[in-house]
Amino acid sequence: MNNHKKFYINGAWVDPISSTDFDVLHPGTEEAIATIALGSKADVDVAVAAAKAAFDTWQFSSVADRVALLERIIEAYSARSEEFVRMMPHEMGTTISFSREVHMPVGIGHLEAAIEALKEHKFERPSLRGGSTLIDEPVGVVGMITPWNWPVNQIMIKVAPALAAGCTIVLKPSEYSPLTSIMLAEVFHEAGCPPGVFNMINGDGPVVGDAISSHPDIDMVSFTGSTRAGKAVTKSASDTIKRVTLELGGKSPNLLFADADLASAAKTSVGACFINNGQSCDAASRLLVERSVYDEVVSLVTAEVEACDVGDPMEEGDHIGPVVNKKQFEHIQSLIQAGIEDGATLAAGGPGLPTGFNKGYYVRPTLFTDVNNDMTIARQEVFGPVLAILPFETEEEAVEIANDTPYGLAAYIQSGDKERINRVSRKLRAGVVNVNGEAGDYDAPVGGYKQSGNGREAGPLGFHEYLETKAVTS
Ligand code: NAD
Repeated sequence: MNNHKKFYINGAWVDPISSTDFDVLHPGTEEAIATIALGSKADVDVAVAAAKAAFDTWQFSSVADRVALLERIIEAYSARSEEFVRMMPHEMGTTISFSREVHMPVGIGHLEAAIEALKEHKFERPSLRGGSTLIDEPVGVVGMITPWNWPVNQIMIKVAPALAAGCTIVLKPSEYSPLTSIMLAEVFHEAGCPPGVFNMINGDGPVVGDAISSHPDIDMVSFTGSTRAGKAVTKSASDTIKRVTLELGGKSPNLLFADADLASAAKTSVGACFINNGQSCDAASRLLVERSVYDEVVSLVTAEVEACDVGDPMEEGDHIGPVVNKKQFEHIQSLIQAGIEDGATLAAGGPGLPTGFNKGYYVRPTLFTDVNNDMTIARQEVFGPVLAILPFETEEEAVEIANDTPYGLAAYIQSGDKERINRVSRKLRAGVVNVNGEAGDYDAPVGGYKQSGNGREAGPLGFHEYLETKAVTS
């Protein structure tokens, strides 16, 4: 018996009150690998009631108890690591090597970072002038709505700090990656999470997602997904004045200066866009290249893109797997078409399936050059292996093009000049600036400026989002 058609509520796997069936498809074969239940508002009500009741005691649990729970979760999750590694390629198409090297370990990274933040946090302190005691308390019942593209990461980056803060949780994972989420709920259960502290319901956005956003007994919604759905969540949450944190889309610029190591920068640039089959919110999808090295970089990047293999996500290797579903495949195809129609130069890849494929949501690794920042391909999030190269003349122009976007999730700089890196990183309107391909650690916050979101996740700042501060005069 598996738990695919059940929900995890109040410490047990229960049947939905009302549901419809939904097939989870393998993106490489387009065949159903499981059928899940999509729940209803009535199911959300039951889960929220359980989370609300559990909050009465969990909010007063000790730091030691919460640390112990998070440590047991690390143990239970690690014990099933290979199952997680294999599940993610099946449900969303990431490749198994990448799943093992990155998707699986990030879960542990966020749990460890939450433990560190919890241990370090001073829950009580005097106000600056000493007239009050400031007490940090958990915000309450948190509704979490997550996307499919990083199934473990998106859940652990929310659940770990929320548990650490003393909150209780109702999670609605993406209906496209529900199987990893069901396994995570099993892990939380095995780790001895008290009944009602963590609850999970499968469902779609308009029904279950909206019931969570608008629920009067949910104190905060932590949402990750598209800017479109983030706006819907914000509107739906507004009647109950709950706290809303949003991690949304991006169109991140990658500024490549002539003083960079060009061969290495070309490789980094393709990797930073095509990571996870191009399905990352912080994908470096606009490569801005200094004019004096433009032709050289274009030929280096073209060679890198042409060398990218596409293949079965279950095969080990550094190839690109399929994108998650038909809707995403068609969205990517329409943007490739828009790039051609807008007059960008198609330097590699293009529309249609890669050679040798007649099914599956496989996209040809695609490169557009001579792009300008007004073209659709430079403005809209593609969420696939499609890179656009734009030339710039001066550092000022590079910053101007980089910031000319409604988004502000991430930016990338590649340069050999430390002073330039310091100067430019401070002018970029983005929540994370990645320098010369160095990845950030789990204690550094991630989050968006502008329409990429509100609030921060990961590390101490991410933990802080789940707290309320009370001032007690003394
Ligand atoms: P999506 O917005 O379609 O779905 C995300 C989640 O929101 C899903 O669980 C979905 O069921 C739910 N949802 C959809 N409509 C809703 C509504 N009206 N009310 C409540 N919930 C609703 O996004 P997706 O296709 O799953 O993921 C891709 C998007 O997520 C991309 O735009 C990407 O940039 C973004 N993303 C952002 C981050 C980040 O940290 N900033 C991380 C990953 C993905």
